[in-house]
Amino acid sequence: MELNAQNGQYEIQGLNVLDIVKTHGSPLYLYDGDKMEQQYNRLKNAFDGINLKVKYACKSLTNLSVLKLFKKLGSDIDTVSIQEVQLALLAGFTPDQIIFTPNCVSFEEIQEAVELGVMINIDNISILEQFGNHYGSSVPCCIRVNPHIMAGGNSKISVGHIGSKFGISVFQMPHVRKVVENHNIKVVGLHMHSGSDILDSQVFLQAANVLFEATEGFDDLEFIDLGSGFKVAYKEGDVTTNIEEVGKVLGDAFKSFCKSYGRELELWFEPGKYLVSESGLLLVETNVIKHGLAAVFVGVDAGQNHLIRPMMYDAYHHIVNISNPKGKERIYDVVGYICETDTFGHNRKLNEVHEGDILAIKNAGAYGFMMSNNYNSRLRAAEVLIYKGEARLIRKRETMDDIVRNQVDFFESETVQQ
Ligand SMILES: *Cc1c(COP(=O)(O)O)cnc(C)c1O
Repeated sequence: MELNAQNGQYEIQGLNVLDIVKTHGSPLYLYDGDKMEQQYNRLKNAFDGINLKVKYACKSLTNLSVLKLFKKLGSDIDTVSIQEVQLALLAGFTPDQIIFTPNCVSFEEIQEAVELGVMINIDNISILEQFGNHYGSSVPCCIRVNPHIMAGGNSKISVGHIGSKFGISVFQMPHVRKVVENHNIKVVGLHMHSGSDILDSQVFLQAANVLFEATEGFDDLEFIDLGSGFKVAYKEGDVTTNIEEVGKVLGDAFKSFCKSYGRELELWFEPGKYLVSESGLLLVETNVIKHGLAAVFVGVDAGQNHLIRPMMYDAYHHIVNISNPKGKERIYDVVGYICETDTFGHNRKLNEVHEGDILAIKNAGAYGFMMSNNYNSRLRAAEVLIYKGEARLIRKRETMDDIVRNQVDFFESETVQQ
């Protein structure tokens, strides 16, 4: 989103953002598809000369139109539930483009995914044994290793630590090798996803090296999957992962690993946030200005039910008053309308806000809509995608029907009693 200096309006690809809110109402999720495309291409280019596969981690944003956009760009896809596998197939991905990386799902769900023909990423020795019993060497699979490299970010999204429920500890690899040998399992990939925000290419390298060492004894490998961990800017001036540097450092390390392994493998990544976070805005309307004793509150027509990251992860999401770009700056607490303390931003400097003004909450593309819910019996927002200069509705706003659809009335058949 950019401020057009000539007309003083906020725009995306030359389209007036306020006009889009007028057309589709608020709260509204608005995505810039061209920005997604730029992020995708930047990653591809950073690993020029490497056999790179990008597996879009679709749990960050599974709208079918977004999935189709990534399909068009040449991306593959990473899924974490059988429903996401089904969505990926619906969007037109072929089974060989889909990796299924579940955690703590039933073996039946894994069997369902095998029947659909997707790559299974196994993160539990008990499941590996069942997989071997059932399929032997007939279905190739991938193993998720936890390298225990601590990365930055919020403790709730860092999954590489020793107490994490994710992956099989790198210290359990001797046991894994035994299970693989006993059942003659065909392991074609090793995977890790150590946490969400890695700033430093050296941390990536350290984790990758642990995984490279863990390949010993696995002779059928076709790919190494380094998961995600790319950090994007939430605040002005935030340090972000230098993708080009990671590409250079990891690309070189990967090439020399392939040489010692004796074969050219594919290098996979599974970014979610990196591909879609910055492309998304949550647009909300100001219901009330409330002068409290310690703060001036801007109360908006959305809440933690629409965007929970600020409350759940203490995530900072930059907020802009797009209705009054030239207004005098004042300090506000921007809060939601849910009966919880759902603060979107505390002590924020915004151009003076009036009731009716539209605010844009930035970086809302990833884990925004996807984590939304109906708490307080509120309706989920609509979603609009802008791609190549055209804005289209890609999900309708919920209605009251959606709130009651699956409810069954206990008292429906009761005869009226006096
Ligand atoms: C969530 C997830 C990702 C994506 O993480 P981001 O921080 O959104 O990039 C990648 N791989 C796996 C296995 C995941 O569960």
